[in-house]
Amino acid sequence: MQDCIFCKIVNGEIPSEKIYEDDMVLSFKDIEPAAPAHVLIIPKKHISSLNAVTEEDSKIIAHVFIIAKKIAKELGIDKDGYRVVSNCGENGGQSVPHVHFHLLGGRLLKWPPG
Ligand code: AMP
Repeated sequence: MQDCIFCKIVNGEIPSEKIYEDDMVLSFKDIEPAAPAHVLIIPKKHISSLNAVTEEDSKIIAHVFIIAKKIAKELGIDKDGYRVVSNCGENGGQSVPHVHFHLLGGRLLKWPPG
């Protein structure tokens, strides 16, 4: 997608602090961290939100969680715990229309979120 900021990060047109990359997903540090550990995991394929995910994307979405677990371990937040969340649409607080998963940890996270 031409105007998608996360597609531009995938293509290297916009810099990011890369954490992990493979053929399906890219992970990088969130530019406005909401916790001591805050990275985004995104499919390389442009999917606008969770609403646009299809059966065809099942492998990619499952892979996101396998990679989230791996990154959590590498960041040293796996033992104390962490959160993986995807905001969808206006009420969900989604600001970038390319589906992404926040991996947050390094502090006690409140529930329910605000
Ligand atoms: P959301 O509000 O759930 O759509 O999450 C979008 C996230 O992307 C926010 O936490 C932003 O801080 C983050 N973000 C936006 N632009 C960038 C960027 N260029 N590099 C890293 N993170 C970004």
